[in-house]
Amino acid sequence: MVHSALANSSAPIGYRGRFAPSPTGPLHFGSLVAAVGSYLDARANGGEWLVRIEDVDTPRSVPGAAALILRTLDDLGFEWNGEVLVQSRRLDLYHAALVDLQLAGEAYPCACSRSEIAAATSKKSVDGGLLYPGTCRTGLADGKAARAWRLRVPDREFVLEDRVQGKTRQNLEREVGDFVLLRADGQYAYQLAVVVDDAAQDVNAIVRGVDLLDSTVRQMWLQQRLGLPTPSYAHLPVVVNAQGEKLSKQTKAAAVDPSQGSSILASAMQFLGHPVPTDIRHGPVADFWRWAISAWSIERIPSVKGIYPGPCVPP
Ligand SMILES: [Zn+2]
Repeated sequence: MVHSALANSSAPIGYRGRFAPSPTGPLHFGSLVAAVGSYLDARANGGEWLVRIEDVDTPRSVPGAAALILRTLDDLGFEWNGEVLVQSRRLDLYHAALVDLQLAGEAYPCACSRSEIAAATSKKSVDGGLLYPGTCRTGLADGKAARAWRLRVPDREFVLEDRVQGKTRQNLEREVGDFVLLRADGQYAYQLAVVVDDAAQDVNAIVRGVDLLDSTVRQMWLQQRLGLPTPSYAHLPVVVNAQGEKLSKQTKAAAVDPSQGSSILASAMQFLGHPVPTDIRHGPVADFWRWAISAWSIERIPSVKGIYPGPCVPP
């Protein structure tokens, strides 16, 4: 483990959650569900709710999308605490964390191209890619130059106690492999940025889509190596389209229309296992939030790990 300069030393805080959209397009129904779930869980627990723009993957970011997402949230009556944090302005912090891990020998340079990894292994990792065979773990081969930096992972089982999905077990070495922190294209990996930012913002309760469940143990390991606390996790079912694909810009998900007000919020809440009374569905947004915060119960969220078409589709 490295020193904990990244950890905050302020007084203990109450619940602090966050919503962290990627600005790859306008807010769609799938990301609205994550926003509603994280917001209600924070407010029902008397907590704070932060918004962070996760644009560390700069090639995928769309100019103007972040502002559009924030406007949609605001129009739908979401109230966030503090300033909106933008990852692309925080690269120095990710760099500092990487240097800590490099100096501690936790991170090592990797010279392998994708085709070299494919030639060395056919084993798949949990996220469907190839499981890195550890070629550069003990040093670069002669004449090879570093392309990326990877984090060493241990051959042991981790247990994640998820508030919605229950227990999840994962062996990092056997199911994930040493994973990338700094990519060959010079971009910091999502895993590093999200861990650094959650700690910097004192986020202690994470509510997000179940598509990120498999990467959580990687984040827990990074937290341990950086001397940072591990938040609680709740992974929500994700919305899929008629083809069974997760809603995203790539699957051409429609933008949320904020003029739908309570009715679109009610659809998101219904997707999360909370039926909404008709008068609330058709009433003002302020009334919806008042009712929803008191009605919220995380136990009612369907605990499905895969895709979840849901009892309700966006209007
Ligand atoms: Zn390598």
